[in-house]
Amino acid sequence: LAKEQGRGNHQFFRSDLGVQAQDRLDFESRLRSAGERGELRLHYQGQFDLQTEAIVGFEALVRWEHPQLGLLGPDRFIPTAEETGSIVELGNWVLRTACRQWRAWVDAGHAPVQMAVNISVRQLRQPDFVDQVLRIVREAGMDPACLELELTETGLMTDADLSTGILERVKAQGMRVSIDDFGTGYSSLAYLNRFSIDTLKIDRSFVREIGSARDSTAIVQAISALGSAMRLTVVAEGVETPAQAEFLRAQGCHVAQGYLYSRPLPPDAATQLLQQRGRDGARSGR
Ligand code: C2E
Ligand code: MG
Ligand code: MG
Ligand code: MG
Repeated sequence: LAKEQGRGNHQFFRSDLGVQAQDRLDFESRLRSAGERGELRLHYQGQFDLQTEAIVGFEALVRWEHPQLGLLGPDRFIPTAEETGSIVELGNWVLRTACRQWRAWVDAGHAPVQMAVNISVRQLRQPDFVDQVLRIVREAGMDPACLELELTETGLMTDADLSTGILERVKAQGMRVSIDDFGTGYSSLAYLNRFSIDTLKIDRSFVREIGSARDSTAIVQAISALGSAMRLTVVAEGVETPAQAEFLRAQGCHVAQGYLYSRPLPPDAATQLLQQRGRDGARSGR
């Protein structure tokens, strides 16, 4: 009896694992075709000049409208997309959609803003990465000077020699390069010299602790000073309070992104925000 039970348990255990594996496969294959099925969405979070409070750009942030699970944030599916490689196609969808949105805003008469797009290391490692980006930019009628590619320190350092070459080509095409979550990755100050970078984004974990944790406050000060000294644009992520914004402004940080100014918004709401707070809108509104 014990033996039979044991076997039964074993089988149950196996079929349970089987269900999980099947769920995973379903999730992966559904994710692979999410773009074609029209299930992907981009939300746009405004980036604001800390001096004038005008909108200077948006960051495009992907979501997945899953038919059973609802609207999923990127943390729920980007890791899977990176593991399975579907991030390359997903990333192209994001880039294409963001560039088309930018074009639609310009066509509607808005002053051009920056458009920041997150690029995963797996995309960057595609041999034809720069050509793919350029093709998408051209097809959408995007001004490359308004496109900012957000990369992480760890992503860049994975193969620093390769990254150097790719960034040089990206820069030669007039596009901008930004280091996302700055200060949290495999940081090396030497690479700031080596890579052609335009923008540092101070990670939100430091911004959150401004005024409460002395170390984080010092790190925010140091990154602001370093960025300014190197003539980089410094963007603070996750700005939630007026006190944080005030501190960042005093440190010479240039741009703020966070719930204090705006949450990531679906296209229609982002367009409204641009109407209210864009440089053209701001001028005519006064
Ligand atoms: P990220 O690039 O660092 O994006 C900023 C994240 O911080 C976003 O989360 C944004 O909603 C959130 N955030 C902004 N302001 C605040 C704030 O004031 N308070 C708080 N608590 N959070 C704030 P989201 O949209 O969930 O994206 C998470 C991450 O997913 C992104 O971090 C980025 O690494 C990744 N991601 C998003 N879209 C894409 C994409 O198209 N491609 C790739 N490869 N990764 C993406
Ligand atoms: Mg980002
Ligand atoms: Mg970030
Ligand atoms: Mg971050």
